[in-house]
Amino acid sequence: AALIRSVLIKKVAHRLGRCYSSSVPTTKLFIDGKFVESSTSEWLDIHNPATNEVVGRVPKATQEEMLAAVDSCSRAFHSWSETSILSRQQIFLRYQQLIKDNIKELAKTITLEQGKTLADAEGDVFRGLQVVEHACSITSLMLGETLPSITKDMDTYTYRLPIGVCAGIAPFNYPAMIPLWMFPIGMVCGNTYLMKPSERVPGCTMLLGKMLQDAGAPDGTLNIIHGQHAAVNFICDHPAIKAISFVGSNSAGEYIYERGSKNGKRVQSNMGAKNHGVVMPDANKENTINQLVGAAFGAAGQRCMALSTAIFVGESRNWLPELVERSRSAARDQPGADVGPLISPQAKERVECLIQSGVEEGAKVLLDGRNVKVKGYENGNFVGPTILSKVTPNMTCYKEEIFGPVLVVLEADSLDEAISIINQNPYGNGTAIFTTNGATARKYTHEVDVGQIGVNVPIPVPLPMFSFTGSRGSFRGDTNFYGKQGIQFYTQIKTVTSQWKAEDATVTSPAVTMPT
Ligand code: NAD
Repeated sequence: AALIRSVLIKKVAHRLGRCYSSSVPTTKLFIDGKFVESSTSEWLDIHNPATNEVVGRVPKATQEEMLAAVDSCSRAFHSWSETSILSRQQIFLRYQQLIKDNIKELAKTITLEQGKTLADAEGDVFRGLQVVEHACSITSLMLGETLPSITKDMDTYTYRLPIGVCAGIAPFNYPAMIPLWMFPIGMVCGNTYLMKPSERVPGCTMLLGKMLQDAGAPDGTLNIIHGQHAAVNFICDHPAIKAISFVGSNSAGEYIYERGSKNGKRVQSNMGAKNHGVVMPDANKENTINQLVGAAFGAAGQRCMALSTAIFVGESRNWLPELVERSRSAARDQPGADVGPLISPQAKERVECLIQSGVEEGAKVLLDGRNVKVKGYENGNFVGPTILSKVTPNMTCYKEEIFGPVLVVLEADSLDEAISIINQNPYGNGTAIFTTNGATARKYTHEVDVGQIGVNVPIPVPLPMFSFTGSRGSFRGDTNFYGKQGIQFYTQIKTVTSQWKAEDATVTSPAVTMPT
């Protein structure tokens, strides 16, 4: 296993253009079309979460390097925004093919740095690829509007135009999908883009940047910097940056929304979640239990749309023993293969503390994933599937986003009670109801105040022709990611009103009143 891992690290690192002068490879910056070594003295280690071995280092870019990156974006904007829309479309058509051809390579990098299983990592790339494929429809998506004969001889039409340099700040949990929600949509609209991936998982973004260059994106249209708070503050403050797309935690997202907005930028912030699955007694039991297990524990619960809370309504509470058994056997069949590790030892410790807080506040541990050992990966950050029952809304394990393989279970006597619990929760990212009754499903979708709802669909992430519409405490901003809203976020409207009179219809006197 150690040999395979070391070969994998070298192969992946080679593709990333990392340098081997020191004992671990370093991640480059991508500035003005070149992969360059940072001159910084501040570096962060990148760990393999399955082993906690250091697999690379990432720089905190210096102020000069960040300025060079944004200057490169600014210089490239003029020609890129004037490039014909068909040329931009062609580049993204080539790009989607390159991503498709390299899906396994990208997935390996994700598994190495983020820890999710290879199959799940391919899914991460695939969902991002779908956004790139959608970006290739830009010739329709960027159409303006026209209205002829507003008055005599006068027509009005609009152009949808790029806004300038845009920036993206990404989280660790989807190293491919979330950056691909950002720069492809921004760039295909004619903007240039400054990307800051999560410092924990920079490798995938570097590969994606190289592929975009190979697809023909001109130098400077995409720049990639690395870092933490200083890089984020730089993005929020630099006057050339017109819009910021952020995905991550509430503490960072609210801060970035406020600082960026204060500086006059557009900001969209997708943030944390507490997604509830409501189980009605008339639901298909087999499907519901399997879907709950997958949606609660897949990706080790590190999905913003993980179904981390179940509300069993009425008699469905009798299904709990079966849910526990199914979760236990999912964990037992292939330890470490289905449920990957958490991102860091700190994340593992936090999740275990939240489980313990549940115990101390009166919850019952039906399945305990603490102290799990995965053979061959004893140093990894693994927590096994965990189920806490008898949870109430005042408990810490209910109020906090756990972001681990922990399902907290509440009970309700009626659908109304379940809806009331959910609507009082501050988050509004996603929810699902399991039922075979259409009227129940309709009532639920109508009354629950959550931005993305699944009916017998546990993780209802919309495909890219729609938008990702988390709401309330899960989102700041007014225009969502991808789909029509994504195009709106990255463009501005220019409206032209023109009058072409026939020569014999000359205006004979000035009009000083407001035209009506
Ligand atoms: P995070 O907020 O720690 O990091 C996200 C980005 O912000 C990183 O690039 C990081 O460098 C930067 N950052 C971190 N702390 C910061 C701070 N205090 N000030 C300024 N910048 C900061 O998030 P994470 O741990 O990488 O990701 C997990 C979180 O992301 C979870 O809360 C999850 O629900 C959320 N998430 C939301 C969505 C969504 O679409 N709603 C999708 C994926 C993840």
